[in-house]
Amino acid sequence: MSNDPRCDAVRAQLEEAFWSRLPLAAGDTNHFETCAACRTYGEELGGLGAQLASPEFAVSESVSARALGRARAALAVDGQAPPLPIGYGREFARLLIAALLPLPIVLAWNAALFNVVGDVLAGFVPELLLRIAAGGYVITAVGWAALLFGSIPFLAHRRATQSALR
Ligand SMILES: [Zn+2]
Repeated sequence: MSNDPRCDAVRAQLEEAFWSRLPLAAGDTNHFETCAACRTYGEELGGLGAQLASPEFAVSESVSARALGRARAALAVDGQAPPLPIGYGREFARLLIAALLPLPIVLAWNAALFNVVGDVLAGFVPELLLRIAAGGYVITAVGWAALLFGSIPFLAHRRATQSALR
C-alpha cells in the first residue's frame, strides 16, 4: 500500500485494467507518466501474467501486499447477507403483479361459490357443519396463498441470478 490516495486509486485502476485486459483510462495514464512508483507497480503487475505461467512463480512484494489487502477486505464482508442479484427488484415486482392480477377474480369467484353452495345446502345440511366446511375451505385457501406469495422472493432471486448469468 502507498500513502498517497491518488497512487492507491491509480493502482486499483491498474489492477482492474489488468484483470479485465483493458487499457488504462486517460486520467490514470497522466498520473502513470509522472509517478515512478506507480509505473514500477504497473510493470510488476504486467509481469504477473508471464510469472503466473512460469513454473518458478514469484510475485513482487507490492503486488502481493495489495492483493492480500483486497482479499482481507473481501473476507471482512463475509458474515453479512450477500447482496441481491442485479434485476431482483424487477423480477420481484413482475412476479408479484402476476400473482396479484387474478386475485380479485379468484376472490369474487369464491364469494359467489360460497353464496351458491350455502343457499343450496342450507335446507338439509346443519348450519354448524356448513360453517366448519367453510372455515376449512378458507384455511386451505389462505395456506395456498401463503405458499404462492411466500415463494415469490425465492423465485425472483433464482430468475434474477439466471438472467445475470446469461
Ligand atoms: Zn502514484
